[in-house]
Amino acid sequence: EGKAKIIYEGPEKGTAIQHFKDDATAFNNQKRSTVEGKGVLNNRISEHILSNLNQIGIKTHLIKRLNMREQLVRLVEILPVEFIVRNIATGSMTKRLGIPDGTILSKPLIEYSYKNDDLGDPLIAREHILEFKWVKDEKALNFINDSCLRINDFMQGMFRGVGIKLVDFKLEFGIANIEGKENILLADEISPDTCRLWDVASEKKLDKDRFRKDLGNIIQGYQEVARRLGIIHEEANISEVKFGKPKAVNIKNK
Ligand code: 5GP
Repeated sequence: EGKAKIIYEGPEKGTAIQHFKDDATAFNNQKRSTVEGKGVLNNRISEHILSNLNQIGIKTHLIKRLNMREQLVRLVEILPVEFIVRNIATGSMTKRLGIPDGTILSKPLIEYSYKNDDLGDPLIAREHILEFKWVKDEKALNFINDSCLRINDFMQGMFRGVGIKLVDFKLEFGIANIEGKENILLADEISPDTCRLWDVASEKKLDKDRFRKDLGNIIQGYQEVARRLGIIHEEANISEVKFGKPKAVNIKNK
């Protein structure tokens, strides 16, 4: 169980079920809350984006969405690196470097952080990734870098078409053994929890910064993203749907 999702044993070897919770956390777990309906929206939005990426040749862990909160995915070993792609400077980058918030970058910039909550996901260099073998070798790292840029190109266009600026986002990749061959797959999720999304006209934030910065109307921001992507209809009120708690499966002995 992680901060926003639970991974359950899948129906077949090499698969898992990814369950989206309503829990929201920020600042390395110091700020916590529940946002009713968030899991349902992230499940749908992430399914939409990963399916579209799959159609342009990006291999992902997604097999199919099962229900309102769950996806069937390939079981992967997650690489301990967060790949952050930025088009506009904001967030931790502007804090760290004193660059004015909202500065448009001349080309997409990729940053890496080491996935370690105890250390607060510290920023790392390519050299750390290779030295500590967090990614197997340079070829694999170059492949992931190229994938990040391709994903950014596609997502920027997709969001721009519905009046949203893709400011930045975080990707995670994992290794899956498919028919005896190691594959690097895009994993985790892509949603307003992992992206910064600003309305083109008003620059209104439609993402997790509404939670991080106490801007209110969090779920309305996520719903707006889903509506514009054509995932939910105008009249849908997902926040009113109630769900019971899932039952965990012990996979240790299997
Ligand atoms: P920043 O480094 O400015 O805090 O975040 C850059 C981008 O990556 C933002 O879109 C943010 O949502 C995403 N991001 C970075 N780290 C994490 C993380 O640990 N969890 C989630 N959900 N998103 C992250």
